[in-house]
Amino acid sequence: MKTFYIETFGCQMNAHDSEKVIGTLVSQGYSQVPTVEEAELVFYNTCSIRDKAEQKVFHRLQQFKRDGKGKTFAVLGCVAQQEGEKIFEKAPHVSMVCGSASYNQLPQMLVQLEAGNRRVTGLSLDTEDTFETPLTRRDNPHRAYITIIEGCDKSCAYCVVPFTRGPERSRTSASVIAESRQLAEMGYTEIQLLGQNVNSYRDPSAAGWDFATLLDNVGRVPGIRRVRFTTSHPRDFVKQIVDAIDENSTLCNHVHLPVQSGSTRVLAAMRRLYTRDEYMQRITWMKSARRPIAITTDVIVGFPGETEADFEATLGLLDEVEYDSIFSFKYSRRPNTSALALGDHIEEEEKGRRLAILQEKQRQIQIRRNAAYLGVIEECLVEGFNQATGQWIGRTSQNKTLNFLRPVENGDLTGRYVEARVTRAGPNSLAGEYVN
Ligand code: SAM
Ligand code: SF4
Repeated sequence: MKTFYIETFGCQMNAHDSEKVIGTLVSQGYSQVPTVEEAELVFYNTCSIRDKAEQKVFHRLQQFKRDGKGKTFAVLGCVAQQEGEKIFEKAPHVSMVCGSASYNQLPQMLVQLEAGNRRVTGLSLDTEDTFETPLTRRDNPHRAYITIIEGCDKSCAYCVVPFTRGPERSRTSASVIAESRQLAEMGYTEIQLLGQNVNSYRDPSAAGWDFATLLDNVGRVPGIRRVRFTTSHPRDFVKQIVDAIDENSTLCNHVHLPVQSGSTRVLAAMRRLYTRDEYMQRITWMKSARRPIAITTDVIVGFPGETEADFEATLGLLDEVEYDSIFSFKYSRRPNTSALALGDHIEEEEKGRRLAILQEKQRQIQIRRNAAYLGVIEECLVEGFNQATGQWIGRTSQNKTLNFLRPVENGDLTGRYVEARVTRAGPNSLAGEYVN
């Protein structure tokens, strides 16, 4: 039996793609090993969203340039799609490059590798198929990921995704529901629907479901107790999604709605297709919902031309929305993107200064927001036990970590839904006690 090792970089989509790649490899008779040293085939599933992420994979490959004799190296994912055959020049010990739109060709590509071909490529983006495999090897025994839409049809000025993942392709609602049912039968209780922009989901079958309808129906699959989804684009985020969350308690009351900037001028330069006011309209829908919806976001600081006043507008937006948490990044120049042509690039040091100010402001907001949970009883899905702290690790419907105490001798809680009362609140997590 041939052995393989896989390392995954980047987003949840990549993590889930790797689960499917592993399933495919196992079905072809390969066996996964935990270290590069033990492997004959080494896969890197890569991310190119920022320059740092891209450099990581070349650094990894460099490490094995000399010590990797006898092994076959393959680069998958976004860097593979972006750099293509140039990777063979940069790292001659790589034998295969394959972007995510070509993973359905993996079995044939493996045959070519076995036959000794040292320049195997899967770089086509014009595939009509989505990458479906019933053989997905899932990492988490309770939460399962389902890709509902691949690729992206937006053209945000800073983003490589449309180039690395190709145009949008939605899966049929029937296949999403069938997979959800199958997962429930296997004992999964939480489903996370994935896509670069889940809101622009459009059922290609005659049923013609939109995202809100799909979400609601996944939430009605017997045995499924929680449904999450990521990522939402504000332009396609409609009120029906909030209504669905209000009406169906299986749908988690958490929405990740990346804003990127609080300045309408910068949003226009980013080609985000919404103004600050339009974004705030979506926030108002969520804040007016019957259930308390946790809201999280992504922010980019230092986009070309971002003035101090634009940055202040983003800080003001954080105060106005009071996010439960944010992911924040310094703008990074990416190949092929239209922002490269913009003038007035901001110095790295200045980007770093803005990022630090933004993150400190958000930390204060999170301290305030989380303090409001003191005394509140929350239902948690128990994800595991932390030996170091002696606490169970729970996750609330709002996607907050709630760690709590309960003697291990009283039984394993992993995978169960239990209630815990919040007794302490920090900026990044809550702590509490088990409630019988
Ligand atoms: N599709 C999602 C959306 O529209 O928000 C997110 C895609 S991307 C994987 C995740 C986040 O990375 C983005 O929301 C953005 O904040 C950040 N990002 C993307 N390109 C970037 C760049 N060139 N520099 C810095 N951050 C970037
Ligand atoms: Fe990138 Fe914009 Fe598409 Fe998100 S919506 S993946 S940020 S191009």
